[in-house]
Amino acid sequence: MQDLTHFIDGAHVAGRSGRFADVFNPATGEVEKRAPLASGDEVRAAVESALKAQPGWGATNPQRRARVMMRFVQLLQRDMDKLAEALSREHGKTLPDARGDVQRGLEVAEFCIGAPHLLKGEYTEGAGPGIDMYSMRQPLGVTAGITPFNFPAMIPMWKFCPAIACGNAFILKPSERDPSVPLMLAELMIEAGLPAGVLNVVNGDKEAVDAILDDPDIAAVGFVGSTPIAHYVYSRGTAAGKRVQCFGGAKNHMIVMPDADLDQAVDALIGAGYGAAGERCMAISVAVPVGEETADRLVARLAPRIEALKVGPYTAGEDVDFGPVITPEALTRIKSLVDRGVEQGAELVVDGRNFSLQGYENGNFMGGCLFDRVTRDMDIYRTEIFGPVLSVVRAATYEEGLGLAMDHEYGNGVAIFTRDGDAARDFAARVNVGMVGVNVPIPVPLAYHTFGGWKKSMFGDLNQHGPDAFRFYTRTKTVTSRWPSGVKEGAEFSIPTM
Ligand code: NAD
Repeated sequence: MQDLTHFIDGAHVAGRSGRFADVFNPATGEVEKRAPLASGDEVRAAVESALKAQPGWGATNPQRRARVMMRFVQLLQRDMDKLAEALSREHGKTLPDARGDVQRGLEVAEFCIGAPHLLKGEYTEGAGPGIDMYSMRQPLGVTAGITPFNFPAMIPMWKFCPAIACGNAFILKPSERDPSVPLMLAELMIEAGLPAGVLNVVNGDKEAVDAILDDPDIAAVGFVGSTPIAHYVYSRGTAAGKRVQCFGGAKNHMIVMPDADLDQAVDALIGAGYGAAGERCMAISVAVPVGEETADRLVARLAPRIEALKVGPYTAGEDVDFGPVITPEALTRIKSLVDRGVEQGAELVVDGRNFSLQGYENGNFMGGCLFDRVTRDMDIYRTEIFGPVLSVVRAATYEEGLGLAMDHEYGNGVAIFTRDGDAARDFAARVNVGMVGVNVPIPVPLAYHTFGGWKKSMFGDLNQHGPDAFRFYTRTKTVTSRWPSGVKEGAEFSIPTM
C-alpha cells in the first residue's frame, strides 16, 4: 500500500497529521493507497508557499503565463493514457470516460491560453479635458478550490487553470476518494514551467476545508460538490469576507415530447442516465414522457436496454458501459433509496440491486434500475440518488412536464426532446435551470462558454470556466489619470461632470 502526499512548494510532502483516508479500487474493494488528511498547520504551509510565489507569478506577463498552459496541454496529451488509467483505478469509471474527464479539463487549459486577450482591460481616451480612464483586471492573490470525487481531472482543471492563468496562486483540496490524478496534474504543471508554490495540492477532509475557509490570506474559494456542503462552504467563506462560488447537486429532468424521435431519446437516456454509474452532476435522473402513449412506448424500449447494460471493471475492455460506484457506503445508500422507492409505491421495472460480478464480489457494483410511475412526493424524486437509477415521471401535458423541472429545488441541467422548434424555444426561454439541452441530454457547455446551475445547484455569482472564470479570479481596478498641459486652472470645488 502506498501513502500519498501533499504537493507543496513544487515538491511532494508527506502528511504530518497522522490522519489518513483509505483510497480504494472500487472495482475490487481493495485499499490500494492512503491519502494524508491535512491539519490546519499543513494548509497554512501551503498558503505561505503560495503567498511567496504569487507576486512574481502575478507580475509575469500574461503571454508567458499562457505558454505554461500551452506546455501543460501538450503534457496532458502525452500522459493521457497514464492519467486515465490512474483515474479509472480510483474512481471506477471506464477508460474512455476517464479520457473524456481529462480531455474536458484539457480544453479549459486550452481556453486559458487566451489569457492575454481575456485579461485586456478597458480604456477611454479623453474622458475629460486631458483625462484618460482605464480599467485593469488584476489577480486576487492566493485562491483555493475544493473539488468532488466524480471528475478528479476535469473539475480541478476548471478551477486551477483560469485562476493561475489570471496570475493567482492556487491551493487545491481535491476529494480524498481519488487524489492521485490531482497530484499528477500538479507535477505536470511544474514540468510545464510553473514556478514552485503557484499550485499547491493539499489532501484532506473537513479540517483542511475549514482551514482554507478561515485563512485570512486566501482571497477566493471555488467549490464543487454536494449541495449541503456547497451551502456550508459558501456561508463560512463569505462570512470570512472571501469571494466564493459553490456548485452543488442536481436532479436533471429530460422531457420527452410525443413528437420526439424515440430512438434518439432512448439512446440519450441510456447514456445520460447510466454513464459513469449515474455519478455525474449532469446525469439525467428523471425522464418525463408527455402523454400516456409516449410513456408506455418509452418504458417498453428502455427496459430491455437497461437489462442489457454491461457493468464491469475498467480493465474488462472498452465495451463496458459503466463501472462500480465510488464506495460501499454509496452503494448501500443508493440501494436503500431504491428500496424506499418500492415502499413508497413506485413501479420498479428493472431491478439492478442484486447484480453481482464473479471475481469482483467485493467491488461496489450494482446494475441499472428503472422506476416508472414516480411521483413528486417520493424520496427517489426529491433526492439526488447519484447512482445508476432512472425515474420516469409521467406528465399529461407539456406544461406539467415543464412545471416538474421548474418546481424542483435543483436547477443544474435539463433537456427537452422534440421535433417542434416552437416548443423547444419556449422551453429554453422559460425553464429556471442553468444549462438546457435541446435534443442533447447532457448539455455541458464547452470550455469557452460557462458552466453553472441555478436554484440549489449553485451559491454565489459567476459561472465556472469560460469568460466568467476570468472575472471570478480577477478584480477590477479603474484609474482616472490627468497629465495637465499648458494652462493650469485653480482648485475645483464642485464634482466634475463630463
Ligand atoms: P461532497 O460534497 O461529499 O465533497 C466535495 C468536497 O467537499 C470534497 O473535497 C470533500 O472532501 C469536501 N467535504 C465533504 N464533506 C465536507 C464537510 N462536512 N465539510 C467540509 N468539506 C467537506 O461531494 P462528492 O460526493 O465528492 O461529489 C458528488 C456531488 O458533487 C454530487 O452532489 C454532485 O451533483 C456534485 N457535483 C456538482 C457539480 C456542479 O458543477 N454542479 C459537478 C460535479 C459534482
